[in-house]
Amino acid sequence: MAEIELNNKKWGHLKKILERSGPFDTVNFTPSPSNLEFLMTSCKILVIGAGGLGCELLKDLAMMGFKNIDVIDMDTIELSNLNRQFLFRRKDIGASKAQVAAEFINNRIPGTKVTPHFCKIQDYDDSFYQDFHIIVSGLDSIVARRWINGMLISMLRYEDDGSLDQTSIIPLIDGGTEGFKGNARVILPGMTACIDCTLDLFPPQISYPLCTIANTPRLPEHCIEYVKIIQWDKENPFKCALDGDDPEHVTWVYEKAQDRANCFNITGLSYRLVQGVLKHIIPAVSSTNSVIAAVCATEVFKIATSCYEPLNNYLVFNDIDGIYTYKYEAEKKSDCLACSSIPKVISINNPSSMTLQDLIDYLCDSSEFQLKNPALTTSIDGKNKTLYMSAVKSIEEQTRGNLTQSLHELNLVDGQQLMVADATNPNTIVVKLKFTANEVEIFFVTGAQAKHLNSEEASPQNVIDGLQKQPTQTIFFKTYPVRRMKPLNSFGGYKRNFKPSELDISDDAINEIEKRFDDYGHLRFGKRGGGEGDGFDDYGHMRFGR
Ligand SMILES: [Zn+2]
Repeated sequence: MAEIELNNKKWGHLKKILERSGPFDTVNFTPSPSNLEFLMTSCKILVIGAGGLGCELLKDLAMMGFKNIDVIDMDTIELSNLNRQFLFRRKDIGASKAQVAAEFINNRIPGTKVTPHFCKIQDYDDSFYQDFHIIVSGLDSIVARRWINGMLISMLRYEDDGSLDQTSIIPLIDGGTEGFKGNARVILPGMTACIDCTLDLFPPQISYPLCTIANTPRLPEHCIEYVKIIQWDKENPFKCALDGDDPEHVTWVYEKAQDRANCFNITGLSYRLVQGVLKHIIPAVSSTNSVIAAVCATEVFKIATSCYEPLNNYLVFNDIDGIYTYKYEAEKKSDCLACSSIPKVISINNPSSMTLQDLIDYLCDSSEFQLKNPALTTSIDGKNKTLYMSAVKSIEEQTRGNLTQSLHELNLVDGQQLMVADATNPNTIVVKLKFTANEVEIFFVTGAQAKHLNSEEASPQNVIDGLQKQPTQTIFFKTYPVRRMKPLNSFGGYKRNFKPSELDISDDAINEIEKRFDDYGHLRFGKRGGGEGDGFDDYGHMRFGR
């Protein structure tokens, strides 16, 4: 086929780029007919996702001459896909997206061999992924993105001197869209910023505070969430879990939410909005998909042929008001959870009160980790110990009791390494616990001038002297790590509106402070056992007495 196909006039525009040199060539580029031949005969591309972006990507790549394309998608076609996922027709509803898309492209663009995989990306291991020259993803899931990112990083090989074997790099081109916004990025695993390096770019999942939902709803979304979270469980109208795909369920939620909205004079509720909130649907805009897929396909072409420097490395696109785009270089994070070998450190200042559940909540909620359902193991005295694992029922039951124990009670120590397994990464990641000492710093603010005493200057006598000075207006107490800092107004005068109970000082910090100042008796931090008091003794000294 090669001869005839390569000479086909329709590739004339590609030949102009691939068979002539130009000002934007990379150092690796040699103009030659073999560039097009490589692209058509040898180059293997994997497209992850056959949805809005995936359909565009398959079309773009096939029309650019790529012949060997695999596509992987676990979803089936739904009616609501048809407005933009143009490889699908009404008769295809219920069928595999990957299979229908592959068949469509293979029929429409002769000579193209798209191989479908109707499954999850997690169903394959590295032996599947290492077959590809380039992987391009059009996913709507952050977990799946992080998983493929982790997979490509785990496939990197290193030379004896620790340098990266560049032939083990499989570039990942990642596209994403959300309504009128989109982004495209080029990731060279091990070399440039990976998905986890820039995890904080992903907006946190929208969640409304429960008290707002329950007591002071202001938005139609609040009413829907109320019905979803509280009313459904209470009334359980269909004797089953709420299913956002079931029209009867959606209608029930819609009607109840409307009642609630009427009570609070909230307008703007609609059936569509109910669907959106229940299923976390973000409206898809096909023109955004087209642009982002085109950018991604162009990057695949640039990398496959070396005809031009690839995007370095993050492009942002926005078509809300006109068209706007720019690119910047996202930076590789030296302690990235996925692509650095340095264990991520978690600072903990209260290991005696922090429970394992608190730690798990932190791993799920913090923008740096954003884990989904972490399983934790560690090694204590050379023995492996499973702290918590929810995936296996019998282990979950055995380890459930650990959740309410403090880190101290679990015999975890400063510097303890925890092995964390989670859906966001095919490999186990290591985190290190750092128990921080509770230092105390005291600030005096005198008029407009703030004086910051370091721990030496803050000797007991200095503190007491400072407290007795009349012009002292405000005093801050700060414990490390800073949990809360309260200005204490008008100290030393007659206005005594300072409430020690508002100070959020951990037990450890209090012990520290007491050790330092107790001899003088004037300044004592401690848990106030009742009593109204304002924190001052009869002499005007500050007292946090027991
Ligand atoms: Zn990284």
